[in-house]
Amino acid sequence: MTRQELWTLAGETVLVEWKARNKNVYLRLRDDNTLNVTAPRRASRAFIREFVLSHLDMVAKWRAERQKRPQLQDYRYVSGERFRLWGVQHELQVIEQEERHNRHVRIDGGKLILEIEPVSDVSERRKMIQDFFCQEFEQAVCEELPICERITQRQAGKIVYRSMKSRWGSCNVKTGRICLNLRLVHYPRQALHYILIHELTHLWEGNHGSRFHALMDRFCPDWRQIRSELHK
Ligand SMILES: [Zn+2]
Repeated sequence: MTRQELWTLAGETVLVEWKARNKNVYLRLRDDNTLNVTAPRRASRAFIREFVLSHLDMVAKWRAERQKRPQLQDYRYVSGERFRLWGVQHELQVIEQEERHNRHVRIDGGKLILEIEPVSDVSERRKMIQDFFCQEFEQAVCEELPICERITQRQAGKIVYRSMKSRWGSCNVKTGRICLNLRLVHYPRQALHYILIHELTHLWEGNHGSRFHALMDRFCPDWRQIRSELHK
């Protein structure tokens, strides 16, 4: 059971959620730039309030970090813009060529190369780049999934991809269907590894209790550190 309240605190909008399963208080910055706190059911308002106030400098750091990571819709898709693939920045180089059937995206010499007709507009260029990231992601999942299945001794059902606002992945424990956030393609590859392990571990244990954490410690010893990178 989750109880929710929406607070305004030091000029911040904060969604506070008390969850029966939570052992600790967590603070994160949501995509809409508001804050989200999840806390154990017995945590007092005063305690949560202090927790948020004492982490505001951290929030400022997260925002600064996020500023450096524009969303795909913020780009104009011209040479010199920088895109992150598996945690590494790549400068975009647009090479103009006349034939539509020669359209092409590739990584070359550390650069992200987009070959496209000069008359193409932003939405066409965005589509090319998005499709490229999608293919990269699918290929990485194909490589990573068997590794993670071997580690966890569990088998995924259908794998689906989606660009999601608030979660990195989810798992239907009945069907084994795993949904992955496409935005993982911008983070270091180990983040994808960690999320796959996390979702597969749900096929042992549906909730995030102590048994789940013990399994995660065994399957992916660095998971806490990787998770903290993802929550920036
Ligand atoms: Zn989970």
